[in-house]
Amino acid sequence: MLQRTHACGELRIEHASETAHLAGWVNNYRDHGTGLVFIDLRDHTGLTQLVFDKEDVPADVRDEIVEAADKLRAEDVIAVKGVVRKRDGGPNPKLPTGEIELVVEKLEVLAKADTPPFQPGDEQNLPGEELRLRHRYLDLRRPAMQNMLRTRHRVTKVARDFFDTMGFIEVETPNLCRSTPEGARDFLVPSRLQAGEFYALPQSPQLFKQILMVAGADRYMQICRCFRDEDPRADRQAEFSQIDLEMAFVTREDVLNTMEAFARTLWKEVLGVEVPRFPRMTWQEAMDRYGSDRPDLRFGLELVDISDLAAKTDFKVFQQALAKNPDSSGTGGHPSTRDGGVVKAFRVPGGAEKLTRKLTDGYAEFVKQFGAGGAPVTKVTDSGFETGIARFIEPITAELKERLKLEPGDSVIFGADGYNTASKALGELRLKVAKDLDLIEDGHWAFLWVVDFPMFEYDEGDGQSGGRYKALHHPFTAPRDDQVDRFLGADAGDTQTLLGILSDGYDMVCNGSEIGGGSIRIHRRDVQQKVFGLLGLDDAEAEAKFGFLLEALRFGAPPHGGIAFGLDRVVMHLAGTDNIRDVIAFPKTQTGADLMTEAPSSVDEAQLQELHVRSVEPEATASTSPAV
Ligand code: ASP
Repeated sequence: MLQRTHACGELRIEHASETAHLAGWVNNYRDHGTGLVFIDLRDHTGLTQLVFDKEDVPADVRDEIVEAADKLRAEDVIAVKGVVRKRDGGPNPKLPTGEIELVVEKLEVLAKADTPPFQPGDEQNLPGEELRLRHRYLDLRRPAMQNMLRTRHRVTKVARDFFDTMGFIEVETPNLCRSTPEGARDFLVPSRLQAGEFYALPQSPQLFKQILMVAGADRYMQICRCFRDEDPRADRQAEFSQIDLEMAFVTREDVLNTMEAFARTLWKEVLGVEVPRFPRMTWQEAMDRYGSDRPDLRFGLELVDISDLAAKTDFKVFQQALAKNPDSSGTGGHPSTRDGGVVKAFRVPGGAEKLTRKLTDGYAEFVKQFGAGGAPVTKVTDSGFETGIARFIEPITAELKERLKLEPGDSVIFGADGYNTASKALGELRLKVAKDLDLIEDGHWAFLWVVDFPMFEYDEGDGQSGGRYKALHHPFTAPRDDQVDRFLGADAGDTQTLLGILSDGYDMVCNGSEIGGGSIRIHRRDVQQKVFGLLGLDDAEAEAKFGFLLEALRFGAPPHGGIAFGLDRVVMHLAGTDNIRDVIAFPKTQTGADLMTEAPSSVDEAQLQELHVRSVEPEATASTSPAV
């Protein structure tokens, strides 16, 4: 086989009159029928135009080569030898190799291809995703997908190099684990050797990395696969990757600084972008000002609490909201300190013109999915307000203008409800308005840290069996140092105190998406036991399920903390796609299917027997995968 001397995207005018060997896939061909064939040859680096010209080929092989070239079809694999020359027909400015062509003297056909179901070189005419996933090897030949693979590789390479320099070591943790109750549903693997017992695939290596700190590893990193058997959602994969990190003898400050330096290095290395230092915001402030714990700071539209002003109006919608009791809006009983009803509003600069009636009618509908009754609006004029709820807010015109810094030509959008519902609905609406009005600048990176999360949220339950505390992050997250005594002192019935306890958790947010989350961990056995107790595990259960952790904590655990970055999400940002399947070489569909290998699949009865497992017919309403 001809050995490549160059890649297909490499040759330039400086190479003119050199001999080069190329190999790759036939991207497209043009047969001029006069003993002249043009082929664009493709590999992951790009395209080179090949010319098969009777005039230029040595007489003894002329017919053979041009004849063979004539038979080439899309996606055939070939190797060629030829001489580089300036393009006869003038340069093609669309290609980096567009100034040259390779005049072929020798052709080897390495593999013929059947007519492909779609042509990777024809971006304009791609079929639906299903067909592309079925033939993923063709899909991945597309230059855009090759870029994704390479961006992902860059990210993991930069991560390994960065953390290596910082003294982290990569340690592998098991994939066959013990099933643990908290969090998402586990994927289970039946044990053949221990009849009736099961492993679980890890939802994250959380406990192993903590135990590595107890074991003296000091700084751990791993690029690992995690598995969560959750219900389908467009931006989620049951099997996903994390850059997982843990550090011993650290405070929150140490972790935040290290991880921020990593993210800034990554953006610099992969995109050449200098990201400024990240602002920090408490969870409460994020909820107050953006109605979200992962605020998108690329644009304004900040939520402002105007409850005190709203109270001065007779507007029924406002009055009813303000009369609400501490939030019972079903969003999980967040430990918000802003109990009860609120009226919030945000200013839309220039909205009087830009927000059409059609849009604002749509907004009233949009917020209903978050439990809000509507989204009243009004326009700002020189003298006051016009349209919408203008007449109801007349008494507070001056104060409202001052509070929201309103200018003539703006619009104001209001939300009046329980704190959680109003915040959530306006927070989501804020994102929608930004999209509708195209307020998000391309290439703008807005990072921040969200800190001081509450330790717990409270699930009221069905009212019969009583409520239940849930860890807002996970059960191994420590209370902030200054809260430990208050935490240990509060008994389970003291909901008010417990919901006010802040944790030492943190999230890294980029352009409104959480790309990393972590915490300082509990390293005291008594604190860990108390958390388990509040989460509904009595001592015996905690011992049965997390005995190994509690035991490790008895033998000298250093203070420690860490974080996990969602690798897929990080790559999505860096590669500029919002489809998670684009950044995974062999992704699954929303229903967890691999369309290429057709997994999951049924297995032989004998295999099941060996595993001590019987497959039962799913009930009509149950999912269609066999129950194990
Ligand atoms: N294990 C956590 C997660 O997967 C991250 C962490 O706390 O480090 O979300």
